Amino acid sequence: MTSLDSIRTIGVIGAGQMGSGIAHVCALAGYDVRLSDVDTKTIESALSVIDRNLARQVARGRVGEADKSMAMKRIKTGTQYDMFGDCDVVIEAAIEKEEVKRDIFKKLVPKLKGTAIIASNTSSISITRLAAATDRPGRFIGMHFMNPVPVMSLVELIRGIATEESTFKIIRDLAVALGKTPVAAEDFPAFIVNRILLPMINEAVYTLYEGVGTVEAIDTAMRLGANHPMGPLELADFIGLDVCLSVMQVLYEGLADSKYRPCPLLVKYVEAGWLGRKAGRGFYDYRGEKPVPTR
Ligand code: NAD
Repeated sequence: MTSLDSIRTIGVIGAGQMGSGIAHVCALAGYDVRLSDVDTKTIESALSVIDRNLARQVARGRVGEADKSMAMKRIKTGTQYDMFGDCDVVIEAAIEKEEVKRDIFKKLVPKLKGTAIIASNTSSISITRLAAATDRPGRFIGMHFMNPVPVMSLVELIRGIATEESTFKIIRDLAVALGKTPVAAEDFPAFIVNRILLPMINEAVYTLYEGVGTVEAIDTAMRLGANHPMGPLELADFIGLDVCLSVMQVLYEGLADSKYRPCPLLVKYVEAGWLGRKAGRGFYDYRGEKPVPTR
């Protein structure tokens, strides 16, 4: 496989938040998609999420009704690895657990065409290490989409130590064909966006912890003072406080620098199960009509 033209069919493993978004943009760009998950209920709900999000794009005049129905028809789903046999690229977007991803690659590799490229959407695991768990480190790459995938235009591309230049180029061209803007990042903990964004969020939690400002003051300050579209604590709730903590842990351990120490207040919120929007409560309480700061 030498160019973008040879890509027709894209596999997506994991039909959660990211996998469903990746399937959405691939199908809309005209690729045949094979979407899998271990959980059939997740697959069903992924299809209805994709349908709903496409309908929203149609309502806004960004996508035609016919394109929407063709995109939906291009997505085939299942739970078996055989379905990836005709894929030119497989994008892994299963949960962020290294042993799970390794096990997926072990089962996937025997079913793949020799020329197929494997990409991982991991946020923090070393691409070089994941590539080594496959039979094709040269045709393995990090392809880190942002959430929500249909809306966010960035894709970080991460080369492992063995990633071949032809793999990088074809995946860079694929990102562009999906309507995204690719940037290259080296294989270091948390790549570029999370390396910069998460320490800022962690610092906002320290600012709260030390009583420098209230939740509302910190978010208003960064919205109006730095022109951020969302305050850092609001954004933390959106990302999920467990995800924020795990990225800080990866930075702290991976770079062995005390400046990445997770704020004890962030740890406390996670221990309380106040994980942000998805849990109904984080730095804000979302259970009422309007979000109310919890501190
Ligand atoms: P999610 O929990 O919404 O989805 C993960 C899915 O993986 C679940 O549906 C789960 O059933 C499935 N799964 C678990 N084991 C599996 C297996 N063995 N085979 C197939 N599917 C399996 O998580 P997500 O937010 O979509 O994250 C997926 C990946 O994307 C992670 O690597 C994460 O780090 C990365 N990522 C997440 C974000 C984000 O903001 N959420 C952004 C960029 C990248």
